[in-house]
Amino acid sequence: MTARQRLTILGSTGSVGASTLDVVARHPDRFEVYALTALNRADTLFKQCLEFQPRIAVVLEEAAAQDLRRRLHEAGSRCEVHSGAAALEEVARLREVEIVMAAIVGIAGLRPTLAAAQAGKKVLLANKEALVTAGAVLMDAVRASGATLLPIDSEHNAVFQALPSDYAGPAASGVRRILLTASGGPFRTLPLRELDRVTPDQACAHPNWTMGRKISVDSATMMNKGLEVIEARWLFDVPPERIEVVIHPESVVHSLVEYVDGSVIAQLGNPDMRTPIAYALGYPGRIEAGVEFLDLARIGALRFERPDLERFPCLKLAYGALAAGGTAPTVLNAANEVAVEQFLAGSLGFRQIPELIEAVLGGVDCAAVTGLEDVLAADRAARERARAWLQAARPRGTPLRQAAGS
Ligand code: NDP
Ligand code: MG
Repeated sequence: MTARQRLTILGSTGSVGASTLDVVARHPDRFEVYALTALNRADTLFKQCLEFQPRIAVVLEEAAAQDLRRRLHEAGSRCEVHSGAAALEEVARLREVEIVMAAIVGIAGLRPTLAAAQAGKKVLLANKEALVTAGAVLMDAVRASGATLLPIDSEHNAVFQALPSDYAGPAASGVRRILLTASGGPFRTLPLRELDRVTPDQACAHPNWTMGRKISVDSATMMNKGLEVIEARWLFDVPPERIEVVIHPESVVHSLVEYVDGSVIAQLGNPDMRTPIAYALGYPGRIEAGVEFLDLARIGALRFERPDLERFPCLKLAYGALAAGGTAPTVLNAANEVAVEQFLAGSLGFRQIPELIEAVLGGVDCAAVTGLEDVLAADRAARERARAWLQAARPRGTPLRQAAGS
């Protein structure tokens, strides 16, 4: 029997983390969960530790770690509990671990994802914000260490599957365009004037996917697709003019690659993250994912539309940031993280999300990226600018969503 592959799951308590554990649980002979990490959901992490018996669990705050340590000890578990951001990086680069699932949300996942890449791991990348903010730094680390970077985002996983296994860049491999599909989210057909009044719960009610709240809002604004365009640029070394977005409300075609001879190769499947996760876990082989098989006759028809940039200005902002280059995508991402947080907290209207991002992009100098420090400095500057914008736009503490609804 071959040795089981050891796995760290960064962000195991989230949506992607839970789907990863679901697939792993189907293959106890192939995978061993070595480390799990969370931010706040200690109860979920506690249950995961009892079920999967990892050697190490990590939470951010030491008080939460003490509590988890005590509960696990009382339950007879020998799992070690660590705390702090440095511990996240440590479990990403442990010698014993072969595979790291990067499933923390936001730029908070950048350092541990980079640590896994620098340590030459098989990195399963869900944390798209790491590539958006630090694409050059992360790709350099992958090349230098010989790490294997496998995309988990369903679109990029689809593109990866549709490219030849010896892919050597668009020109050498005859790739004309990459077509990223987008569902259009919950507001694809909502009358534009009603967008002012949509609530966080409405924005998070995605028609086809169940995901964490941040990416759900990103899907509703289509910033998610903008981030994915930037992600594709780095993963596949394709210039922005060769990356196109097409709306496909059924979320069955996960993305497509168009070749110079006119062929278009797509990957299809039910919208279930366990498919790309199982693909990456089993790569270069295939393993079962527990996913319902596709019944095309039942679905009947697949639709495709061009995205409406008036409805989805975030998509335009993302293309603009990618064209500007340097730290512009980092600034875009930071402004978006602040805007989404404020929207979810009920203090910013849905249509103010792109307004805030545009103001921040126009108010921060973007520079070249020579290393991680440039990325982190741009992130800090953009967050400061976003906070200043929010202060200025919210006279006498009026919530912006009320002002927006008038
Ligand atoms: P969730 O919000 O469901 O989960 C996020 C995970 O990260 C949780 O484990 C959370 O811990 C942890 N976390 C959050 N903030 C921090 C922090 N500051 N430090 C350490 N850990 C933190 O997100 P998703 O699973 O939906 O998404 C994860 C990533 O995958 C995102 O980058 C997203 O864009 C990407 N992705 C997700 C898809 C999906 O279907 N959900 C599809 C494609 C990509 P806790 O639970 O304790 O808060
Ligand atoms: Mg996606």
